[in-house]
Amino acid sequence: MDVARLTIDQIREDLARRRYSAVELVEEALRFAEAENPRTNAYLHLCPERALAAAARVDERLERGEDPGPLAGVPVAVKDVILTKGVRTTCGSRLLAQYIPPYDATAVARLEAAGAAILGKTNCDEFAMGSSNENSAFGPVRNPVDPERVPGGSSGGSAAAVAQGTAVAALGSDTGGSIRQPASFCGVVGVTPTYGRVSRYGLTAFASSLDHIGPLARNVRDAARLLQAIAGRDPMDATSAFAPVPDYLAAMDGNVRGIRIGLPREYYRDLASETGTLVERGVRLLERLGCRLEEISLPTTDYAIACYYIICTAEASSNLARYDGVRYTWRAPQAETLAEMYRETRGQGFGAECKRRIMLGTYVLSAGYYDAYYLKAQKVRRLIARDFEEAFRRVDAIVTPVSPFPAFKLGEKIDDPLEMYLSDIFTITGDLAGIPCMSVPCGRTAQGLPVGMQILARHFDEPCMFRIAEAFERAGGFGGN
Ligand code: GLN
Repeated sequence: MDVARLTIDQIREDLARRRYSAVELVEEALRFAEAENPRTNAYLHLCPERALAAAARVDERLERGEDPGPLAGVPVAVKDVILTKGVRTTCGSRLLAQYIPPYDATAVARLEAAGAAILGKTNCDEFAMGSSNENSAFGPVRNPVDPERVPGGSSGGSAAAVAQGTAVAALGSDTGGSIRQPASFCGVVGVTPTYGRVSRYGLTAFASSLDHIGPLARNVRDAARLLQAIAGRDPMDATSAFAPVPDYLAAMDGNVRGIRIGLPREYYRDLASETGTLVERGVRLLERLGCRLEEISLPTTDYAIACYYIICTAEASSNLARYDGVRYTWRAPQAETLAEMYRETRGQGFGAECKRRIMLGTYVLSAGYYDAYYLKAQKVRRLIARDFEEAFRRVDAIVTPVSPFPAFKLGEKIDDPLEMYLSDIFTITGDLAGIPCMSVPCGRTAQGLPVGMQILARHFDEPCMFRIAEAFERAGGFGGN
């Protein structure tokens, strides 16, 4: 078998025909991941015992003639901000380098209940803060397409694992684009579901009102299958939605005739030419498939970066307060007083980006500045959401670029945080509005770098989003036709 080429549909068929066992498949994926990792640093650690135990359970069920589950035997990688019971979960941080969680995230438990095998934990920016994966305490991830370039962030390890073929699919997390942007940079599919669609229980909090768990995969069907398994109400997360989970695969009938697609003019100005050309070509393919295109305006787009970086830093400064040296493993050894212990633990434990956000967030929340920054940003967030509500009265979906440019070189933007923040311009609006959005590959630049196209839909209308994405893929759009 060739793990790098398998899809979930293929694995289902192969297991049913006994072409290989789930244990053989997972052994092969583990071997492959081990061999490839020195090139990309996509995995922080593998968990072979757990993966093989899951695979053995699948084989036993098959042996007994029972249904092994919709994701039976599928090798899945999980971003290391998502808790795995008994398996180290570092969040890309020195502070949690030895942290072993006592419970599983709901999304992880649901994947395993569906038959998936968790191969290991993927590298990411520290506490999911970043757009290039260079903020990990355990070294950057390299893009499998071009090792001189970043894979995007913060779910760069998950995107790289899927792109290099060691995992058939992966879980990432997205607060401001961290699933879609790396998916776009690495040439895979990445889905950020509606806020509340997937439980955040066991996802380490960065900015709770923006955090999402979502799948990365090689094709749209596989991504939909993962979402199907992890979506739905969870009593452990009060923000998880009660809305029933529709059948995503049934929605993908290839028919997009008459679907109205909005093209926000604010997203198409100032685009790097090659990215613009590829996305526009993708849009024209959708038109040929029968979609009706309409230019729309999302006038508050210009305020999105400022709004996002106020809200996310405010929430981060509060969420990261728990890493105090008393709880969660690591503590600075030299401290003598309590205050010194806090100071040293946090001072040595956090990387530069986390510290920058803690300081910014504390500032925007402090008495005297709260109204001017945090409260104002919340109002702007409401306006951004309203822009989308207005647009979705006229159109069924919105199509935009994912990132203004393709994967950049390692080191190119790391010393200029503002420049790095600007790369999130097209992805953070979807998170601020809480709507579902995804990245699908739409071709490559002359240098061979993948470019992604973003599809956004109404709250809980993942079926419409998947229908468009899958029709696009079926028509050859991934290759840029
Ligand atoms: N790049 C954005 C940030 O650094 C998004 C991160 C994310 O989605 N987790 O905040």
